[in-house]
Amino acid sequence: MRKESIIIIGAGPCGLAAGIALRNKGYDPLLIEKNNVVHSIYEYPSHQTFFSSSEKLEIGGFPFPSNERKPKRHEALVYYRQVAQRSNLRIQSYEEVEDVIQDDTYFHVKTKKQNGPCRDYAAKKIIVATGYYDNPNLIGIPGESLPHVFHYFKENHPFFQKKVTVIGGKNSAVDATLALEQAGAEVTVLYRGSEFTKEVKPWILPDFHSLVRHGVVTMEYDAQVTEITSSHVHYEKNGKQDKVETDFVLAMTGYHPDHSFLQEMGVGVEKDTGRPVHNKETMESNVKGIFIAGVIAAGNDANEIFIENGRHHGKRITDAIEEEGLLG
Ligand code: FAD
Ligand code: NAP
Repeated sequence: MRKESIIIIGAGPCGLAAGIALRNKGYDPLLIEKNNVVHSIYEYPSHQTFFSSSEKLEIGGFPFPSNERKPKRHEALVYYRQVAQRSNLRIQSYEEVEDVIQDDTYFHVKTKKQNGPCRDYAAKKIIVATGYYDNPNLIGIPGESLPHVFHYFKENHPFFQKKVTVIGGKNSAVDATLALEQAGAEVTVLYRGSEFTKEVKPWILPDFHSLVRHGVVTMEYDAQVTEITSSHVHYEKNGKQDKVETDFVLAMTGYHPDHSFLQEMGVGVEKDTGRPVHNKETMESNVKGIFIAGVIAAGNDANEIFIENGRHHGKRITDAIEEEGLLG
């Protein structure tokens, strides 16, 4: 069994930022990442432009140069790889943390290396920075697991001259619709809300509304989807049943943290919000010695914590660990 002072689970932007904050204060945390660094960003749509300026995505004080004020996904991948390298963080990639069990002195961390053996570690402190992007929100309707239904959107090309139904009404749904239209897809958007909310970035809406006004995209508000079949999406609107013919369905219904992963460690999860129980000043959870960093802290609300603010959690955690000491 390897002994470590601090283990950070997840090497997304916020896990990396926490690692650097700790390094800057003389600690030497180990990051364990089940894929490779910033895997969620790797999984974004290929041509994604961030809504944040590059400055707001910077971590560890490393400057993020980008061609435009708002960088693209591939520039962020380059940036975070360089940060990981230049900060000399210890990162074990392709190793998944499966269990964290506490005894009197240590947290025992069990991992599984991809195509490899299980490993055991003992650590004094744990930082959970596992994000939410691995777990799509399922609608829970018949047909959702059919092969033409996707919860992630990567590229528009496969949808050329195809009928596509987009479900949802926030940034991913609007972004996907714009990209699909560019590739010549015939898009219908089904949104359960009666209008877009303030979370949708205002600069993407004029293009979207223009496509709807010109009849290029069909928009149905107040549309609650009820079933997906191989040829249609069924929905209810104003008490009436309706359906739209479809070749593909993009269910852009958001994502949520792995609640059971937290609960198995003893971390409480608020029932209504999916928020892990934690102190916002220190980011320490209800389990002493287990801290929360990044978007996972917001629970099921994907529009409260971003890289922009989650990158600062590491400093709060470092301050708390410095104050208490590693054995505190
Ligand atoms: P993540 O980046 O999700 O990192 C979590 C990491 O943990 C992953 O690498 C995962 O593989 C790993 N992991 C999970 N479970 C385990 C385990 N058991 N063992 C080991 N490793 C594990 N935010 C902004 O601030 N600005 C933007 O412009 C912006 N644009 C976005 C665009 C899109 C399309 C999306 C989907 C999100 C966007 N966000 C943006 C939000 C941003 O992606 C997240 O805020 C950010 O990824 C959160 O960082 P994180 O480190 O908390 O989590
Ligand atoms: P999201 O913000 O959580 O939105 C999910 C949408 O799906 C909401 O409109 C929601 O409806 C709807 N929905 C959820 N469950 C549903 C159900 N059971 N049935 C029907 N509809 C359902 O998810 P997202 O748009 O994928 O965004 C995720 C994160 O990525 C956010 O942080 C976002 O800002 C970020 N993002 C950023 C960019 C960018 O930078 N350009 C692009 C895309 C995404 P309600 O509105 O009624 O809740």
